[in-house]
Amino acid sequence: MHPSLVVIARLFLLAALSLGAGCVNPYSGAEDEDIDERTEPLAAPSLAEGFESASKTAYSAADIALDSGLWRMDDALIGTSAGDVKQGARSARVRNSGKITMRFDHTGGAGTVSIAHARYGNDGAGTWGLFRSVDQGASWSQVGAAVTTTTQSLATATFTVSFAGAVRFEIRKLDGGSNRINFDEIILTEDDPDADDPAGDGPGAALSVHTTMGIPSPSSAADYNSYLSVKSGYVLSYDGSRKVPRWVSWELNASYLGTAPRQDDFRTDNTFPAALPQAKLSDYSGSGYDRGHLCPSAERTLTVAANSQTFYLTNMVPQAPNSNQGPWASLENEVRKLATQGRELFITAGSVFGASTKSVGKGVRVPESMFKVIVVLDAVGQGAASVTASTRVISVMVPNDNAKVSKSAPWRKFRVSVDTIEAQTGYDLLSDVDPAIQSVVESQVDAL
Ligand code: MN
Ligand code: MN
Repeated sequence: MHPSLVVIARLFLLAALSLGAGCVNPYSGAEDEDIDERTEPLAAPSLAEGFESASKTAYSAADIALDSGLWRMDDALIGTSAGDVKQGARSARVRNSGKITMRFDHTGGAGTVSIAHARYGNDGAGTWGLFRSVDQGASWSQVGAAVTTTTQSLATATFTVSFAGAVRFEIRKLDGGSNRINFDEIILTEDDPDADDPAGDGPGAALSVHTTMGIPSPSSAADYNSYLSVKSGYVLSYDGSRKVPRWVSWELNASYLGTAPRQDDFRTDNTFPAALPQAKLSDYSGSGYDRGHLCPSAERTLTVAANSQTFYLTNMVPQAPNSNQGPWASLENEVRKLATQGRELFITAGSVFGASTKSVGKGVRVPESMFKVIVVLDAVGQGAASVTASTRVISVMVPNDNAKVSKSAPWRKFRVSVDTIEAQTGYDLLSDVDPAIQSVVESQVDAL
């Protein structure tokens, strides 16, 4: 177990023990709730500091390695005396204009920060505030209002932060007086329960990290024409009447890229119900169309299993070779380059069926066009809440017809707005992005 998890576990035990009989333990009421509520993510602490793991006996400024990371304590020490009010054996004690400062960024964003505080010994009341920095400590701004500590037992102050991205915090004694204040149990809770997940917490993120930007169209395991399949590597909505996916959504960043070789194990999807119609290898054979991946093999190379998962025929459509081997492939290369540069990408690709009823084999529909929408975020871990009006969104619609696409055509030639794709498909893309921002980014056409 990672040391910080030990701290988190201990803090939860302490929190549970300190809750009065009339209090509600957030983890004990699940059986009273209906299934929908139970699947709602519980907020989980992603950073917790109880000052239990180190000693600092002098007030002079110094950096100190605590369980959660490196902190600076200035006019502050770690108190263990009878006068120190604490959870466990230790708490922080701050005097004068002292400060306790994170020397590291928390990268997963923050929903709330709660801090236990009390008057030290018989000292009088003192006033303090929480500050945050988004530039590695170069500048600070206060979060919420100042707090006056009046009690001799620990009280908890909770600050709403609601910030996605890299952030660090500082506790500052503001009154400058000699009264000392104890601080303990600093707990940062993300909006999203998974520290590795994006900050967005709409219905898409609740389903899978791959649908962080939203679920493009209503889909479920009960609907064979919009069959929802949630896989470890991607999420798809599959059309059993056409034997191809409507859309496939996936996250891409450098963590998905490795050295696993291309498996080429094209096959039917054995996770699907037997009664759900699927394409077979023979349907594609000699058709003149490629077995065109939506979630590409080359974007799932961390493990053999992850790569193999892209070879289900349910992740493919009959694709015009000029597109698959031309602009569609060069866009995939561009996207992988962005991932290796550290970007966080959320991608949805799918079929535009149009008026054409062309099919191959036993009724495997050839989409009239194929679309792809790529949200490009600056840093891994960002989500729907990080999308702004200036976020790059690359969207293309490529005719699925050799006569309309030259293999040498640049992918940029096929850029359209997301609004155009939505109009052609009836889907709502980026549906978990704030509607005002959605309307801006969906009306633009990428020009980079
Ligand atoms: Mn403590
Ligand atoms: Mn939309």
